[in-house]
Amino acid sequence: MATRAPRKIEIPQEHAGALGIHLKHCLGLWEVDGLAPKIELRLSTRMTRTIGSANPAKNRITLAVWLFNQPQTIIDEVVCHEAAHLIVHHLHGTGLRPHGREWQALMRRAGVTPRVRIPLPHPPPVPKPRRRRRRSGLTRGLSI
Ligand SMILES: [Zn+2]
Repeated sequence: MATRAPRKIEIPQEHAGALGIHLKHCLGLWEVDGLAPKIELRLSTRMTRTIGSANPAKNRITLAVWLFNQPQTIIDEVVCHEAAHLIVHHLHGTGLRPHGREWQALMRRAGVTPRVRIPLPHPPPVPKPRRRRRRSGLTRGLSI
């Protein structure tokens, strides 16, 4: 019997350093450097409809494993995008629009054009049929 891969896995060593550096870079630009050690970066092998998601309650960023098929600029943008969600929550609390003014301002401060849809040069894997829909996280083609 085959063992199922765990849903959440650690970031591969070859990517962990660069991701951490980029995350710290963004946090530095936002003057919240102290949060870097507290933010947890995880990978998901099951995310197919979203390339990344942020969980402010757990201070966690989850990235789709196929993100690493994309160019470095996309990887950096997604890390920045999700980190900005955590920082908006940290600075302003709950109740704001996910991609509202506060989030957009952080993206601009990081030198990234705020956008919810990121055109991907390399297509994601074909999603398997799902029993339930989850409407959270950075989408590929939907404004959520
Ligand atoms: Zn988002």
